[in-house]
Amino acid sequence: MNRHARRQYIELIGRDHYLESMEDRLTYAYDASGGQCLPEAVVFPENVAQVSELLSISNTYRTPVVPRGAGSGLTGGSVPLTGGIVMAMDRFNRIIAVDTDNLQAIVEPGVVTSRLHAAVEAQGLFYPPDPASMDFSSIGGNIAENAGGMRAVKYGVTKDFVMGLEVVLANGEVIHTGSRCVKDVVGYDLTRLFVGSEGTLGVITRAILKLLPLPEGKQTLMATFDSIGRAAGTVADIIKKGIIPTTLEFMDRHCIRAVAQYRNPGLPTGAGALLLIEVDGKRREIETDLDRVRKVCEANGALAIQVAKEKTGQEELWRSRRSVHAALTQLRPNWEEEDISVPIARIPEMVHMLEEIGRQLNVLVVSFGHAGDGNIHVSIAARDKNTPPENMRRAREAILKATVALEGRIAAEHGIGFVKRNQIGWNLDENTLALMQRLKRFLDPNGILNPGKMFPSTITCGSQIQP
Ligand SMILES: Cc1cc2nc3c(=O)[nH]c(=O)nc-3n(C[C@H](O)[C@H](O)[C@H](O)COP(=O)(O)OP(=O)(O)OC[C@H]3O[C@@H](n4cnc5c(N)ncnc54)[C@H](O)[C@@H]3O)c2cc1C
Repeated sequence: MNRHARRQYIELIGRDHYLESMEDRLTYAYDASGGQCLPEAVVFPENVAQVSELLSISNTYRTPVVPRGAGSGLTGGSVPLTGGIVMAMDRFNRIIAVDTDNLQAIVEPGVVTSRLHAAVEAQGLFYPPDPASMDFSSIGGNIAENAGGMRAVKYGVTKDFVMGLEVVLANGEVIHTGSRCVKDVVGYDLTRLFVGSEGTLGVITRAILKLLPLPEGKQTLMATFDSIGRAAGTVADIIKKGIIPTTLEFMDRHCIRAVAQYRNPGLPTGAGALLLIEVDGKRREIETDLDRVRKVCEANGALAIQVAKEKTGQEELWRSRRSVHAALTQLRPNWEEEDISVPIARIPEMVHMLEEIGRQLNVLVVSFGHAGDGNIHVSIAARDKNTPPENMRRAREAILKATVALEGRIAAEHGIGFVKRNQIGWNLDENTLALMQRLKRFLDPNGILNPGKMFPSTITCGSQIQP
């Protein structure tokens, strides 16, 4: 760390908000991807003026800056690959307004997602994006990753609810994108540029978010099938029939068993796959939609169909779904994960290919996720001691290649980070990728914002990370 930069940081935000002990640096070295690199310091700005000044100093002394929300990212977005400072947004934790007249919320990026849910629901409103990490992820991290969630089938993802942003650029300039107006075509849509930019283009310090009226009610249906193929076919049929449930999640047999062992012994451990389907809206619409969903499940040979009428039963089913990550980790400590999406009608083909890849490479391939929007989470582990270690890498590569072959995307909602930066070109043509890199250089000519992320790079911090 340049000593002039260090002195200026401390003068600006005070000793209490500038951490540099080894313990503190270790605490901010990693995220949920498992990647780890030590920052030189961690700073906790409190307002936009401080963020602006911190970036201006960093730009002058070429200090790398890595914005950080809750560190729950799965692709290493908040891991400081080249040291520098981690800018932790914890103190930006205010819900500034819930505007019931205009159905909007104005929030700071450090607000935890489920806290925003509770605040707006208390006023009869609804913020649909619901990543499974919502009890600990931050709104800033959700915007920077364009996080999805289970309700994306019906309501869309984070980008569909961001109306405007306050962003501090790498040189310290503060800009405002979008507005509080539903219709707004004044200039380029810069809001969309910053949503999903993974901390590489600017630091988000405030957001205007769109809200909806809270649906009158909801109900959850669980259908079990003898095979993952039948469950996947049912998903495609439900969407083809024009039924848009709020959520349409699936779990394969490995997930069912893992979750049954971990928290919910009531799950049907003998089934090959299960679908969890939620519909919401006005009470009469719910009944009609559930009936239509039930008929499609029956036509696809569902073994059992069960509606969780009571709130507690519904909540337990969704908690079970949200605990898949934790349940798999209890089963085996070392899983590698992929987050892919394919056009919905191609889910059955994708699921078939996943099974084939697992068989051919003697690798355990477990899949679950948001099937209703084409997003499949795939966890991979060695099947047994006969699995050669390099087969894990080969399986991941084969899965991404199969995804591209089916017109899918190699990153659906977890971002690119450093984990997939060298595969980004598998989905983008040369000119498009080059334009994105030029935009990055234009907005951040000294490359201080989140270096080594998003684009092909060989930057590592030694053996601690495995891109
Ligand atoms: C158990 C589990 C379940 C998950 N389920 C889902 C899911 O269902 N759907 C989903 O989409 N994701 C999911 N995730 C991934 C993760 O929670 C999301 O990517 C989330 O949006 C990250 O938010 P965060 O606050 O933790 O951000 P971080 O991990 O701290 O940061 C993520 C990225 O955002 C950038 N960033 C953070 N704050 C700002 C800011 N203010 N300005 C600019 N850049 C910023 C960082 O630099 C980094 O690149 C899950 C993760 C876990 C561990």
